This record gives sequence, C-alpha cells and structure tokens, in this order.
Amino acid sequence: MAKVDYVYNTKTCRYEPVFMTSQMIFRNIFRFLGVSFMIGVIGLLVFNANYPSVDETMLASRNESLKRDWEVLYKKLDNSASELSVLEQTDDNNYRVILDMEPLAQSVREAGVGGREKENANIKYSLIREGYEKAQKIKNRLDIEEQSFAQLDQELAVKERMWASRPAIQPISNEDLTYLHTTYGMRKHPILGYWRPHKGLDFTAPKGSPVYATGDGVVEVAHTSVTFGQVVYIDHGFGFETRYAHLTEFIVRKGEKVKRGQIIGYVGNTGLSFSTHLHYEVLFKGDQINPINFFQRDLSNKEYEKLVELGGIATTSLD
Ligand SMILES: [Zn+2]
Repeated sequence: MAKVDYVYNTKTCRYEPVFMTSQMIFRNIFRFLGVSFMIGVIGLLVFNANYPSVDETMLASRNESLKRDWEVLYKKLDNSASELSVLEQTDDNNYRVILDMEPLAQSVREAGVGGREKENANIKYSLIREGYEKAQKIKNRLDIEEQSFAQLDQELAVKERMWASRPAIQPISNEDLTYLHTTYGMRKHPILGYWRPHKGLDFTAPKGSPVYATGDGVVEVAHTSVTFGQVVYIDHGFGFETRYAHLTEFIVRKGEKVKRGQIIGYVGNTGLSFSTHLHYEVLFKGDQINPINFFQRDLSNKEYEKLVELGGIATTSLD
C-alpha cells in the first residue's frame, strides 16, 4: 500500500491526506537527481585529488621504465666513448708510430664536437638532449677516426710498396754461397793492381748459381759492360738501386718489373773479374752503401754467424 502523507489543516482542525500532483512529483524527482549529481561531482573531485587515475599510474610506470632504459643507454654511450678513446690512443701511439706518422692533433680530433647547438636546442627534455649530445660527440669522433684510418690505409699501402721494394735479402742462396768477401771500402784491385774503392760485396758461388733480385723493382740496365761484364741494375724506387755484376747470363730485360726473390741471372766470371763470383752493390740516392746491412731478412742466427765468420777472414775483393 502506498505511503500517504497527512497535513494538519488549521481551518478544519483536522489531519488531511496530501495528494501529490504530477508537478510535485517531477519537482521531487529533479531535486533528487540534482542532489545526486552534486554528490557525484564532489565525490569525483575528492577521489581525483587523492588517487591517481589508471592512465596516470600507467604513465608513471612507463616513465620509470623509460628512465631505466635511458640509464642503460647512457652506460652504453659511456662504454662506447671509452672504447673509442682506446682506439684513438692505439691509432696515435701504435699505428702512427709504426707507419712513422705524426699523431692526430687534438684540435683535429675535437673538430666538430659541440656543434649543432641549434638542433639540440629544439629537444625539449634535458635528459634526452644530454644523451643526444653524447651520441653526437661520439659520432663526430668516429668520423674523425674513420678519416684517420683512411689515411693509415693509404700510408700503409705506400709503406708496403716501400718494404717490398727495399733490398732485403741475399742475392745468392746460402746453399750456393761458398765465400763472402765483405770487402766494402778501399781495396787493391786483383787485376788492375792499384788501390781503388770497392763499393760492393763479392759472393763466391759455383758458376750458374741463381742470382735473385733483392727487392721489388724495375730493371733499368741489363747489358754487357767492359768492367762489370753481364750486369743488371734494378731500380727499386724510394731512392734505392741494386747492381748485379759479372753474371754468366742475365734473363731479364730493361723495363721489366721484377719481384723480390725472382731469378734475374746466373753467377759467372764476365768483365773485369778475377774469379767466378757475384759483385753486388746497393745504392741509395745514387751513392753506394754497404750491402751487408740489407740482407738480415732471410738469415737465421746461425746463418748470420756464418756470414760474419766468412766475412771476417776476407781481405781482398775479386774485382
Ligand atoms: Zn766486387
């Protein structure tokens, strides 16, 4: 049964039932809804003020995760910078020393580092900007190092050609060598009978023993002369030249490229020669120098001892 409200009527001095009009019903409904809405709004404001939303919680969690990732990235950048420093030091102190090059100036290494501030200024977050600058410095240093390595590569190619060209082996194999006259300097000529400079070494070996080019080069002379007999000159570039005299035969011709260790002729006794041997000269910038300093490369300690022993008892030249 519906609840009925009563109101005291002073005129009739009686309690009379109050019948709700539709207007009153609507007014009550609106009042109820208004109060509910106000309570809802206030509750929401209080809740928001005291508790983060689900989205905010997720964002905060993601921020923490990003910070951790960023710290890992920072460490990786720092590690890369340290490894790059080691590479730069190895470049300056090892590679460039070996190749006889000056270390890269610090001003060159720092060129470009710290540039692009305008670009950096557009990055809003300092943490990201700092990381970006770190990465950029590493990139600039890497660019410089890349250029340095290109230089090293070029220089190495030149040095390789130089090392391959430099006279560095004996022109006669130790198996064929029976005597070495280390008679570099003033000697009495065995045929002419007077003293004159002997500007090479004499290798005694059986006739027909192979004679080897002692470095890469180009044959500049291959002919017969009165004094040197059948003789070959090799231009090695970089100021070096070698001469191989008194051959019984040469097997290269002028202008031919030769490699170190290539047979260019055979031991003989042609020209102004006292006995079968190879007269060998090394020249640097046109002047003869002592060849004994130019063939350690293919000698073991024992072989070198033999060479010194043989040379120690030599007193005369053979041409
Ligand atoms: Zn000689």
